[in-house]
Amino acid sequence: MYRDIVGNRGVPSSLLFINKNPCVEMMYFHSEFSSPDLLSHNGYYGEFGGKFIPEILHETFEDLIEVYKAARADTKFWQEFTFLLSNYSCRPTPLTYAENLTNYFGGAKIFIKREDLNHTGAHKLNNVLGQALLAKRMGKTRVIAETSAGQHGVATATVAAKFGLECTIYMGAIDVKRQYPNVFWMQRLGAEVVPVSTGSQTYKDAINEALRDWSTFMDSTYYVFGTACGPHPYPEMVSWFQSVIGVEARQQILQQTGKLPSAVYACIGGGSNAIGIFSGFLDDKSVQLIGVEAGGSGLNSHKHAARLASKDATVGIAQGYKTYFLQNNDGQMQETHSIAAGLDYVGVSPVLAHLLELGRIQVSTATDQEVLDTLKLCLTKEGLIPSLESTHAFVQALKDAPRLSPEDCIVINLSGRGDKDIFTLANAFGDRSWKEFLSNKIEQLS
Ligand SMILES: *Cc1c(COP(=O)(O)O)cnc(C)c1O
Repeated sequence: MYRDIVGNRGVPSSLLFINKNPCVEMMYFHSEFSSPDLLSHNGYYGEFGGKFIPEILHETFEDLIEVYKAARADTKFWQEFTFLLSNYSCRPTPLTYAENLTNYFGGAKIFIKREDLNHTGAHKLNNVLGQALLAKRMGKTRVIAETSAGQHGVATATVAAKFGLECTIYMGAIDVKRQYPNVFWMQRLGAEVVPVSTGSQTYKDAINEALRDWSTFMDSTYYVFGTACGPHPYPEMVSWFQSVIGVEARQQILQQTGKLPSAVYACIGGGSNAIGIFSGFLDDKSVQLIGVEAGGSGLNSHKHAARLASKDATVGIAQGYKTYFLQNNDGQMQETHSIAAGLDYVGVSPVLAHLLELGRIQVSTATDQEVLDTLKLCLTKEGLIPSLESTHAFVQALKDAPRLSPEDCIVINLSGRGDKDIFTLANAFGDRSWKEFLSNKIEQLS
């Protein structure tokens, strides 16, 4: 298997012995030979992408692009990166056969890529570890990041602690209130959390504020961007670091079934877990790549976050790059809605926007209600606790599975674990004792 996939493509034999961890071999293979679709043309993917930044950050971005390119070609960097992925974040993550769900739906065999088993509970750490290594290479002593639901903030604070870097996290003031448990952990991990009270006081405002910080402290500071969006080189760089998901998944499904899947499913927030798993299959034209966005209360309700799958979004330039945004005619960003806090961003990866235009990916949506129903099935049939975000991918996959034959297999990316969603879920499932539990706790505290 290993020789077929890696050896034939000409990896120098000296590299085959870097480390016994197969992850290292896979990553190196990918750094040299991955599909050109992941690489931008001067920061552009078709008409999407670009680098629309304040003049003052120009040199900082040029430095970053140079260091990133050098790292990509440097075996030492990949060794260090993959060592951390395996020894700190538990990679490779397994590909689990969901036998019960398969029997229940009676169609294609369902396989699940377990990004929930990464340290800090989601795919976010893959990207943060890569970027933190770049920060160290650039001699930076401080990292900053933006976060919405707090997952990227926690991952960044975690790695900053491990690498001995100062850490500041920008988070919309409303999100600070909504996602307090993650704020608690960021602070305990040693990060400073700055609530952002401008604009809509949510994720996009946190990005603006982080860019402002960077413009002031660029000498000491590195900006760890959380998803495959933002100005070049972030979309390309984040996609690259997350591509480990797809490389592993492709090898694993071949090992377990002897063939490629009919389709691969992932939820789309900014787009990093989706491009991460899709990238492994871009060249396999027989494999459908299906991204699922937040349908919220339904596409007609305008309470959703579907940028690729609905006509409500239009192409524009904001937050340093060009893509589809949910905006009004004046280019002002609209309010979005999803039961999953990690999927309600107003923009979307330029990489995915381009792949959609090329017809290489397809997009659909899942409503809040569909997500809740499907989550119940995952819990009770399979003993899995996917996050609300990840469950969006399951909704579409479980609609399609029965229409396929038992000869077929499909892969769903389980981007992160759902423990964090207990507050939302207890409420949505109408668990009355949960409320009692909370009021008792408050009583004990006062
Ligand atoms: C952050 C997050 C997402 C959305 O971000 P992408 O960049 O689209 O992957 C999805 N799932 C989980 C578990 C997350 O934490």
